[in-house]
Amino acid sequence: MAKDSVGPVSRETSEKYVDTPIAAAAEVASQVLTKGHAGTLPRPSATRIITVANQKGGVGKTTTSVNLAAALALHGLGVLVIDLDPQGNASTALGINHRDPDIRSVYELLLGEITLAEAMQKTPAYDNLYCVPATLDLAGAEIELVSMVARETRLRNALDLATIAEYGIDYVIIDCPPSLGLLTVNAMVAAREVLIPIQCEYYALEGVGQLLQNIELVQAHLNRELYVSTVLLTMYDGRTKLADQVADEVRRHFGDKVLNTIIPRSVKVSEAPGFGMTIIEYDPGSRGSMSYLDAGRELGMRGAPSPQGGQR
Ligand code: ATP
Ligand code: MG
Repeated sequence: MAKDSVGPVSRETSEKYVDTPIAAAAEVASQVLTKGHAGTLPRPSATRIITVANQKGGVGKTTTSVNLAAALALHGLGVLVIDLDPQGNASTALGINHRDPDIRSVYELLLGEITLAEAMQKTPAYDNLYCVPATLDLAGAEIELVSMVARETRLRNALDLATIAEYGIDYVIIDCPPSLGLLTVNAMVAAREVLIPIQCEYYALEGVGQLLQNIELVQAHLNRELYVSTVLLTMYDGRTKLADQVADEVRRHFGDKVLNTIIPRSVKVSEAPGFGMTIIEYDPGSRGSMSYLDAGRELGMRGAPSPQGGQR
């Protein structure tokens, strides 16, 4: 693919941001925040439930879940992130203390011990961004679920629509663990859309075939509405030819499901969770923040494309 067709992180664009002096960076940040003011993105006609899945580890599932959630929240939309990974990284990045032993988490929600409203916590950064945190208890859930009634539909049953409406939730984003086990199946049964983050690296498409097969199985047996709506290229390094080759290959494979925005590799993005922040709070004017804001805007403007590729 030609450099200039790569999208918002073409070398020219990234250098512009890298070399921006502080005053200009502040200007950029304020423009981002103004551009992203409430009301610029339409509210979807029905709550969009999106599972962020890829069983390959470290491809940017959690980073994408929390930063897209923050981008949508900054646009004034109501967003709920469900952390379905025992590592609890999404909870950490959203500033939720998930190590407190008394915390009410997605584990108790799946077991039916608490309601969705009891499991939801408002994040410190936004009044309209909520999180159902994950604790280490969830590590055992994958095994405990096996013998339970309705083991694949527990999350769907727990996502009580009245609560979602009461809290004004427009988007539910589910961050999956790096496996295709029962937790991921629960996420796929609860959602309508799957968003697949793909890292612009060697073996990027490794395992994607298996992921697609699992999605088809869930479609056939458990959730007819499920489909891959979105693919996001992550950790793009414009200095390597490989990154462009991967981006090309993914676009050939997934066509217009791939967002035009590509997320660049950036140290700032990886630093932000250490401060309990998304990149959008941590460094609003950075390339990482801009690209997640762009990706959020694209996702929101595309609405929920039908499986045939049209708009819902
Ligand atoms: P897991 O499979 O373990 O759940 P994941 O798919 O959720 O991983 P992340 O945790 O989001 O992946 O990202 C993996 C690592 O890469 C993290 O340390 C994260 O901070 C870092 N990272 C993610 N996106 C970027 C980026 N655009 N630039 C630089 N580092 C990134
Ligand atoms: Mg993760």
